[in-house]
Amino acid sequence: MHHTERTRLRREPQRGSHDLALIHAIVDEAPICHLGLTDVDGHPLVVPTIHARLGDILYVHGSAASRALRRLAGGIEACCTITHLDGLVVARSGFWSSMNYRSVMIFGRARLVDDPDEAMRALDAIVDHVLPGRSSEIRRPTAKEIAATKVIALPIDEASAKVRTGDPKDDPGDLGTDVWAGTVPFRVVSDPPVPAANLAPHVPVPASVRAASRR
Ligand SMILES: Cc1cc2nc3c(=O)[nH]c(=O)nc-3n(C[C@H](O)[C@H](O)[C@H](O)COP(=O)(O)OP(=O)(O)OC[C@H]3O[C@@H](n4cnc5c(N)ncnc54)[C@H](O)[C@@H]3O)c2cc1C
Repeated sequence: MHHTERTRLRREPQRGSHDLALIHAIVDEAPICHLGLTDVDGHPLVVPTIHARLGDILYVHGSAASRALRRLAGGIEACCTITHLDGLVVARSGFWSSMNYRSVMIFGRARLVDDPDEAMRALDAIVDHVLPGRSSEIRRPTAKEIAATKVIALPIDEASAKVRTGDPKDDPGDLGTDVWAGTVPFRVVSDPPVPAANLAPHVPVPASVRAASRR
């Protein structure tokens, strides 16, 4: 991966990083990403979507009829943004109030995955990204399902991370006041799994779902 003027952090550069391990960890922990691209007539489009990373490639998938995926398949530049909201930063003034977060921006040129083996690896990776281990618990996709699905690769050519942690940075003039300040940590939690109304009662909750509901 390289980094150019485009991924040089200007605002609050001390929060920025180009560390690949950090970028990968932020990408892998996020259930979804937002893909930014320009449509044929030049207007911007930001699409929330599921992703998975294999090495230095981010894969997304969708209906073969998807407008955004058709556009990406044409090999255009795209930007993918990923955000974890880690908490509210509650300062003594609105100006210094903020959020704790980990975010990543990836720039790359998208391509259609036309190799069937690569597409299958990507589809399994997407299933396992959402629920680790799930691809080995479910039936394999049919030829018809594969034909209805487009897989797009976005090489993580150039990327940056930005991380904010810790207390508010209040204005020194506000420190003596009795206005509360601190942080409200956020984390993603899940409730116990709910079986489908049409699930046969003898079917046990599989390992992938048990693990996800412990997260
Ligand atoms: C949850 C959350 C809330 C935020 N709220 C605000 C807000 O209210 N107001 C505000 O001004 N900013 C906010 N930010 C920060 C915002 O994402 C930008 O970093 C900031 O606005 C600077 O933008 P810029 O275009 O001037 O960045 P520049 O520093 O000019 O961007 C240059 C390059 O730095 C990298 N970069 C910039 N921002 C990020 C990022 N967040 N993650 C990864 N790489 C990045 C990219 O490679 C980009 O091309 C928030 C971020 C998060 C994650």
